[in-house]
Amino acid sequence: MKRLTSIFIIILLLVGLGYAISFVQEEMAFREDLRQRPMPDRLHPFVADKRDQLVADAADLGISILITDGFRSAEEQDRLYAQGRSAPGNIVTTVRSGESYHNFGLAIDFALKLEDGSVVWDLERDDNGNGMSDWFEVADLGKAIGFVWGGDWRNFKDYPHLEMTFGLSITELQEGWRPEDVIGEE
Ligand SMILES: [Zn+2]
Repeated sequence: MKRLTSIFIIILLLVGLGYAISFVQEEMAFREDLRQRPMPDRLHPFVADKRDQLVADAADLGISILITDGFRSAEEQDRLYAQGRSAPGNIVTTVRSGESYHNFGLAIDFALKLEDGSVVWDLERDDNGNGMSDWFEVADLGKAIGFVWGGDWRNFKDYPHLEMTFGLSITELQEGWRPEDVIGEE
C-alpha cells in the first residue's frame, strides 16, 4: 500500500512538472511574440480621436489651440533629447527614444493659437476673458476626456503634454505590449 502511494505521488509530480514546463514554454513563446511587435508609426486612433475632441472642446470655450506634436519617431525623440544638451536650445524632455509615450503614438502636445495666427506657450493668458488661465482650462478639458497632463507631474513639469497610457508603463510598451484598438483604424 505504501509503495502504491509513493508511485502515485511520483506520477503526480511528473504530471505537475509536465504542466509547469509547458506553461513556461508558452510564456516564453508569448514574450518572444511580444518583442516582435513593431513600433507604431502614428498616433493611436483612439488618441487621435480624443485630440480632435480636445481641439473642438477648447474652441467651444473660445480657446484656439494648435497640436504641436503627436506621434514622434525614435529619430525625432533623440533630436529633441539633444536639445539643451549637445544641441542649442532649452531642455524640453527628460527622455530618450523609446522612453516617451509620444514614441508609442499615445501623447500629444498643445499650444495656444492667437487670433493673429501666432502660437504661444503662455500659462497666464486669459483671452476668452472668463477669469481663468486658458492654458489650464485646456489641460482640464484634456483630463476630462481621459488624458494625463504633464503639468501634474511632480518633477519635470511638461505643461504642453497630454498622454493616454491605457494602463501600460513605458517598460511594458518597450516589451511589446500595446493598447487594445479601442476604436477602428484611423
Ligand atoms: Zn509631450
